[in-house]
Amino acid sequence: MEQVHNPFQIAQHQFDLAADALRLEEGIRKKLRVPRRCLTVSVPFERDDGSWMVVTGHRVQHDVSRGPAKGGIRYHQNVTLDEVKALAAWMTWKCGVVDLPYGGAKGGIEVDPKQLSLHELERMTRRYTNEISIIIGPEKDIPAPDVYTDAQVMAWIMDTFAMRQGFATPGVVTGKPISIGGSLGRREATARGCTVTIEAACAHLGLKLDGLTVAIQGFGNAGSIAAELLAARGAKIVAVSDSSGGIHSTKGLDPSAVEAHKKEAGSVVGMRGTDKVSNKELLELKVDVLIPAALENQITGENAPRIRPKILAEAANGPTTPEADLILHENGVFLIPDILANAGGVTVSYFEWVQDLANYFWSEEEVNQKLEKVMRRSFADVVALAQKHRAPMRTAAYMLGIGRVADATRLRGLYG
Ligand code: NAD
Repeated sequence: MEQVHNPFQIAQHQFDLAADALRLEEGIRKKLRVPRRCLTVSVPFERDDGSWMVVTGHRVQHDVSRGPAKGGIRYHQNVTLDEVKALAAWMTWKCGVVDLPYGGAKGGIEVDPKQLSLHELERMTRRYTNEISIIIGPEKDIPAPDVYTDAQVMAWIMDTFAMRQGFATPGVVTGKPISIGGSLGRREATARGCTVTIEAACAHLGLKLDGLTVAIQGFGNAGSIAAELLAARGAKIVAVSDSSGGIHSTKGLDPSAVEAHKKEAGSVVGMRGTDKVSNKELLELKVDVLIPAALENQITGENAPRIRPKILAEAANGPTTPEADLILHENGVFLIPDILANAGGVTVSYFEWVQDLANYFWSEEEVNQKLEKVMRRSFADVVALAQKHRAPMRTAAYMLGIGRVADATRLRGLYG
């Protein structure tokens, strides 16, 4: 398992551990281990110089027994079908953990978006949307932002889908700009949800967040806003990083100054008054709270023995391998697993979709209050299961999510 680092095999391994603990019957287990539907498409589009480029895209729906499929779209050169399958399965369990009426999906294009102009990005996004439009829709499958996609990309997806329908369809994506049916609070939701779970973990462990040191790997939507929210609560952000490397300051970083520097220089690296650290070194810093907020497989059997925060909050999906999980657990690291820690994003996506379907929009305060309630309840549910079954936090979260999906699957039965 450890050498392979295939995200889908890891997702299946995590599933098996929880299925064993739940004593899940064989038939349900077979059905839930695999995705329901995988669509792979070629995406041809025109470059600015008039030449054509063809990239490969995927959209995977893992399960839809509790409602429409839901999950982000990633643009990254390392995207593979197996990665998208893993991310789709994690979405299914995540929606189960926070008890949303959704199944899980994910999409991805095998492309380095940094090599494309804005117009090329738009043409690629529109063509990809056209190709997957046979399986997406407000009642079927609702995409959202993920790594290297944002509100603008969601606007293009929504427009392309709406043009095919002949009328506005805001409910086809979430994470849209506010002016076309987005929700207040969605941009901050993943980080806000993660922050709420860290606060809850502090209360659970008898720690005070005020004054705790924090390192964050990845300074995008999830990581940069988590830095801001945690600093506002008195935590000291001592290190952050992006794809170019990281920065460290024992005095603490001002997240908005780092954000401004990144906007200007294109990376957090080089900020005045900071030391350089690599992404690898950042994970091993002596901090109270560590937040991986970038990509999968960052914490492995190799580096896990040197990673000893009090709290590890997985804003990223799949940052920790199963072998690392065992080591961290043995070392007493309190884990807030991805399908709980980053579930704030899909929770407010759900709120956005509900607002779009009702054509009735909520205040930011209302969104944030509802989000906080869901995150606190879900954290308490997972901790209670972990204690009851003497299970690690990840297995407990999987048990909660998989248990709910298994119930729906059992009740619905098989067709034909
Ligand atoms: P983003 O594109 O906004 O930011 C990604 C960040 O990661 C950037 O700062 C980038 O420079 C950095 N990065 C890329 N490659 C890296 C590397 N090799 N090492 C270190 N840093 C690297 O993406 P995001 O939406 O913040 O997503 C980050 C993680 O959070 C992903 O795992 C994603 O699946 C997860 N997540 C995001 C949401 C959401 O609502 N955006 C919700 C749930 C989970």
